[in-house]
Amino acid sequence: MCGIFGITDNKDAAKLAYVGLFTLQHRGQESAGIVSDAGGALRHHAGMGLVSEVFDRDTLDALGGRSAIGHIRYSTTGSSHIKNAQPLVLNSCLGPVAVAHNGNLTNADALKDRLQKSGAIFQSSSDSEVILHLAAKYRGRDLAATLASNLTKLEGAYAFLFMAPGLVIGARDPHGYRPLVLGRLGRSWILSSETCAIDVAGGRLVREIEPGEMVVIKGGRASFRRFAAPARHTRCIFEQVYFARPDSLVAGRTVQTARYEIGARLARELAGLKADIVSGVPDSGTVYALGYSKESGIPYRTVFMRNHYTGRSFIQPDQRLREFTAHLKLAPIKDVIKGKSIVLIDDSLVRGTTSKKIVGSLRRAGAKKVVMAIASPPIIAPCYFGIDTPTRRELIADRMSVEKIRRFIGADALHYLGLESLVDACGGGTDRNFCVSCFTGRYNGLGKGGR
Ligand code: SF4
Repeated sequence: MCGIFGITDNKDAAKLAYVGLFTLQHRGQESAGIVSDAGGALRHHAGMGLVSEVFDRDTLDALGGRSAIGHIRYSTTGSSHIKNAQPLVLNSCLGPVAVAHNGNLTNADALKDRLQKSGAIFQSSSDSEVILHLAAKYRGRDLAATLASNLTKLEGAYAFLFMAPGLVIGARDPHGYRPLVLGRLGRSWILSSETCAIDVAGGRLVREIEPGEMVVIKGGRASFRRFAAPARHTRCIFEQVYFARPDSLVAGRTVQTARYEIGARLARELAGLKADIVSGVPDSGTVYALGYSKESGIPYRTVFMRNHYTGRSFIQPDQRLREFTAHLKLAPIKDVIKGKSIVLIDDSLVRGTTSKKIVGSLRRAGAKKVVMAIASPPIIAPCYFGIDTPTRRELIADRMSVEKIRRFIGADALHYLGLESLVDACGGGTDRNFCVSCFTGRYNGLGKGGR
């Protein structure tokens, strides 16, 4: 998961790109970068760390330009290194081209191998660079047409922003795994991973870019074209479960509304369960717990204080860091917990190590009973579409039964939300289908290069 944001035709383009990336910071914290279009030349600044650490007033002034695209990264392929910070910029026979990518290309290795054999020299180990080399090999003069004919060679998940002098292009894979929305701010166009960044930048949402659709923004005008026939729309359901900000609109409803409904459905599935209080693992768990509380009548209480300055444990790239930040960031509120039977809701249970620490923390604070309720089904299969669950071995639900997991995390009871309840709460419906492959092990849209 990464975040991308672009804005055109605005004298404050680089600064607004900064605002957009700052708003999308929850989507990745490894690196941040902005490329601006400074009248024929692309200017680039990127670095490791948070948006606020990478940019300051001087770097934003130096970027200047009337259009800008930006990226914040959390790595799925390619190491956590500055050379993989995006946007990537390549000088091609079509001139300078920049790309910002959210997703994962499942046939990138095969394509890269072929391109290297024909002389391409890669600057990064990121899968995202493949599309630039494919485009660079093409002999046409029109970048949009070049990209349209080469995007069909890619398999997997992508939302792309491209920039060349005088041109910004957005494109979304034929299944629509990763999000991309279009907004307007006066005469400017905005492309963003989430609607919240359009809102914060002062714009208004126009619409979602459709799966297999490309938007070409040139001379203040946006034109739309299909580069691939629409496939079954399978947006990643984890946008609602965990990734997206509660104020973002996904599949026609805010993430906040979907999470509240998920909490209510958990309560219905656990009807009759007695407890003194219900709470959530902050931040996403809080809304689930409020929905649960309303439905069940069990009072909501906050049992953990979250330190907001430690980063999100799920998206740290290595296990050692993940465990360290998980420990740092949640502090139990002892007098709320002591002597209580607690229903605690978390968004998902991936490796089980964080849940074990959280349950242990409640016990040490004097909880009488801990029922762990998970707002999604067991994750039994890895994601090949840009989310960091790369091997089955790491997934506790692939190795253990629910009862064994309960014992591992030390809870008195463990309940997972049913898949049907999750899909319904997120919007359901035939035209609003979701990718649920990590819950089912059945993959949609993986071609020959897929695993
Ligand atoms: S496999 Fe899971 S995490 Fe990956 S895109 Fe599908 S729903 Fe999202």
